[in-house]
Amino acid sequence: MKSGSLAIHGGQPVRTKPFPEWPIFDETEEKLLLEVFRSGKWGGTGRIKLPAFEQQFANLHGAKHAVSVANGTVAITLALQAAGIQPGDEVIMPSYTFIATATATLLLGAIPVFVDVEEETLLLNPELVEEAITPKTKGIVAVHIAGAPANMTRLREIADKHGLVLMEDAAQAVGASWEGRGVGTLGDVATFSLQSSKNINAGEGGVILTNSDRIADMAWSLSNCGRIKNGAWYQHEHVGWNFRMTEFQAAIGLGQLSRLGQQNETRERNAARLSELLSVIPGIVTVKRDPRITTHAYHLYMFKLDPALAARIEKSDFMEKLTAEGVHANPGYIPLHLNEAILNDSAKRSGTRQTYSCPVTERMCTREVIWLHQNLLLGTEADVDDIARAIAKVADSYA
Ligand SMILES: *Cc1c(COP(=O)(O)O)cnc(C)c1O
Repeated sequence: MKSGSLAIHGGQPVRTKPFPEWPIFDETEEKLLLEVFRSGKWGGTGRIKLPAFEQQFANLHGAKHAVSVANGTVAITLALQAAGIQPGDEVIMPSYTFIATATATLLLGAIPVFVDVEEETLLLNPELVEEAITPKTKGIVAVHIAGAPANMTRLREIADKHGLVLMEDAAQAVGASWEGRGVGTLGDVATFSLQSSKNINAGEGGVILTNSDRIADMAWSLSNCGRIKNGAWYQHEHVGWNFRMTEFQAAIGLGQLSRLGQQNETRERNAARLSELLSVIPGIVTVKRDPRITTHAYHLYMFKLDPALAARIEKSDFMEKLTAEGVHANPGYIPLHLNEAILNDSAKRSGTRQTYSCPVTERMCTREVIWLHQNLLLGTEADVDDIARAIAKVADSYA
């Protein structure tokens, strides 16, 4: 049944009006794009809008350096390499993340090692990270899934104790903060994505943030054909590549950044209201927000079916009904630690085929977690009330 048609149980759908559409843009982006177009300096060496974009992106998170790159995937590959990860090194990451966290690691020739997430937060479980450390482990990637910073306090302790690189995959967490400090400054290096679905949408694009001069210089060099800053054009001191972002993307990104503060406030306010409304619906569980999260970027709003309900119904059935009520939901990821392509590629590089036990990720993916996209949180209080009523109506259909 398609969205907008009759609700499966109960005639009239709760919601017939559309939610705010993504992307949001206006003359701001148009004007900035025209400036780039008319300058004739369109590429990533143009330096028309890129310096301002990088500066604003760094300032927003309180980071010393920002290096713009082609997308979030190469941002991860280059950040890991710039921070010292080498082919064959093991890098620990959550099993509950977008596939690029793992494939970007494999692009470098390093081996992703999967660790389960915390049931309450769906974020990397630091205690399991510590158990997974081997002599080959060289790095940890904390993924701020849905826009919620992972437990960076504990992960920093573990990384320091074992002498590991700590990276943040902050693709979904633009503008988020942990204990008042911006994501991108909590690990040694962090990466962001400007892909179309993300909260700053430049079509495609990526950013690397770091406070380390050394990592920033190396990330810049690796994405600029191995050149060095202030070096000659044909002076290549490293093996690097052209992974530059274009001026057009910087122009759109600047326009998008101008709205981020207000959008993040709206998402935070609406998410708080939604969590309050969902917390009293039988069969529904909200995802715990760690009190140390000062700003949550809410790239996704995730909620869960409670284990008893999840055990007797199919998640797909719940989502089909919710969509029929006019609220489009997404089932989310398929567990990465079970992905054959990743396991095979990792085995080829490491010489041993790894098997993983990540029962929380498996149960969350297949039975419990449901996502709403961030644009559903950019509307009014009445929109949020409709979302909650639709979820309550569907949950009640199983009572
Ligand atoms: C989107 C995303 C990426 C990859 O970014 P691209 O710009 O699409 O390459 C990596 N990690 C996470 C968690 C993401 O959500």
